[in-house]
Amino acid sequence: MDKKAYLTIDDGPSAYTGKLLDILKKEKIPAIFFVVGKNILKLPNSKSILLRILSEGHIIGLHSMTHNKEILYYSLNSAESFLHEMNELNKLLKNVVGYESSILRAPHGSFYNFRLGHYTKLKKSRFQYIDWNLDSRDWFFESVDDIQQQIQSELQRIGNPAELVILFHELPQTVKGLRQFIDYFKSQGYNFVQYSENEKLVVKQVKSRNEKIHYLKLIIRWHISDKVKLFKMNVGGLVSWLRK
Ligand SMILES: [Zn+2]
Repeated sequence: MDKKAYLTIDDGPSAYTGKLLDILKKEKIPAIFFVVGKNILKLPNSKSILLRILSEGHIIGLHSMTHNKEILYYSLNSAESFLHEMNELNKLLKNVVGYESSILRAPHGSFYNFRLGHYTKLKKSRFQYIDWNLDSRDWFFESVDDIQQQIQSELQRIGNPAELVILFHELPQTVKGLRQFIDYFKSQGYNFVQYSENEKLVVKQVKSRNEKIHYLKLIIRWHISDKVKLFKMNVGGLVSWLRK
């Protein structure tokens, strides 16, 4: 059976989008570009870049307006903010290129970032979120060799799954190595396919023990900081009530 690979590229549009598109066109490979609203507003030629993404058969997905962890996950109304930013981004896309998306990627991934509110609100919304099961860590490594090494060891670690969702970013090292990375996945029996928006893509992340411990600590810290904020708010409310 053919193994499927979905290529996803986050954090654009950027100065590298055009170069990435050139490579994908040559290789005849479809991708999902998860774009950030503030980058659309910042980039002078974002309209033509976004139109080019669409006209060359790729998909645009939502990746928030701000990409700000504090707003999207740590604030008291983070779930509302999260959904609000996705809706705002859709409005922006509609204005700029007349396109709306129903798929999103949570900045930094949903795993260990989403609270219960994020899951419940998303379930009621028209959005579907897509994580990844292979992180190229191109955001961490600057050399093509290091990224290649990471890809190979990750693929082995997660056991060559039948469905691969690969995470890349719009970075110079990714532009430089993309052709080579694509060749590698093909050599491992993967077929690059396009995602269709009514497809339910199930992505199971395989976390290492160290990662799990790291995130567990984070969750405990966030939880405590939330409680402290709530407590302060309640005390503040009580004090002002007493003063009335
Ligand atoms: Zn991102």
